[in-house]
This record gives sequence, C-alpha cells and structure tokens, in this order.
Amino acid sequence: MAATATSSERLGWIDEFTVMEAVHSYFTAANTNPGIHTVLLDNFPGSGSQVDQLLSTVRSVAPSCHIESIELLTDAKTLKQRSRNRRVCHRCERDPISDPRLPAIPSDDDDWKCAQCRGLLHPRRGDSPRLFKARMQRYHLTAAGIRAGFAESGIRVTQLDTTNTIDGAANLLAPLLISRSVSL
Ligand SMILES: [Zn+2]
Repeated sequence: MAATATSSERLGWIDEFTVMEAVHSYFTAANTNPGIHTVLLDNFPGSGSQVDQLLSTVRSVAPSCHIESIELLTDAKTLKQRSRNRRVCHRCERDPISDPRLPAIPSDDDDWKCAQCRGLLHPRRGDSPRLFKARMQRYHLTAAGIRAGFAESGIRVTQLDTTNTIDGAANLLAPLLISRSVSL
C-alpha cells in the first residue's frame, strides 16, 4: 500500500488478485456473522472487471445477498470545493500507512482543529492537486466500464445527485436500502 499511495499512476491501487482475495475472505466471514445485515462497499468496485469478480464472489459465498449499486454524483465545481475543504485527522483515523481518508469534522471555533480529539487536522493526501487530477481522470475512464459491468449483470445503477445534499446523502441512501431489502 505504501508503495502505491503517492504515485499518480497507481493512486493506492492494489493488484486485482490481492483485492479479490480480500473481498472473498471478507464476505465469507461476513456471511457467517449473524450480526451483519448490510455491507457497504465505498468506492468499490473500481473497474468493470472488479464488478464481475465481486458479483461472482458474492453469488458463490452469499447467494441470497441482494445487491444494490449506487453512484453518487455532483458537479466538477463542488467536487473541487470539497477536495479543497476536506481535512483528515491522523489521531482519530490510525491508517497503517499514515494516509487517513475519512473526512474529519472540524471544531466550531477552529477549522483546523478536530472536533473529536482537538488535534491538528491536515489536508487529505489524495486531495493534492496532482493526485486529485489523476484520480478524476481515472474515474472518468473507469466509470463507464463499471456501469456497463452492472448493466450486463442485470443490476441497475441508481444515481444520486449529492450536489446540494452532501450531509443528507445518508438520508437518501437509507430508505433505498431499507425498502428494497424489506421487499425481498
Ligand atoms: Zn481527531
């Protein structure tokens, strides 16, 4: 992971074999855990071939699992603004290669202070202009393949526009997941 984190070519990408090994062992464990009802894969699958591999893994390990595919959308200006304003906390998110990704909540009195631990916040490494640009280019290249992969498998991709509702994204998602899983 460390070798891939700062490279604008690799952008934290791990080879597909390693990814699918991890996905397979995760779903095998999750399927036998009665406490797990829903699994949310954030930013995954990341390519058309990962869509195929994910679906075949889930169908073999957890055949009764219902799959929803959701794409969050926003405009280029909002994306840039979010990347400029995003901060992470090295204390609250102990990333193994010191590359925290989860947006931290700043305290009310100081934008650069973590609301949770009062530690100093930092810009996220992947939001540096060089890596951000490379990530966007990769997204546009791979998104079409990901959508096609789901479509070929008969899974509709639900697109949610989060431009004005980033805080409400969870509120948009929750009813979608609950109503569909209840209806099964
Ligand atoms: Zn913190």
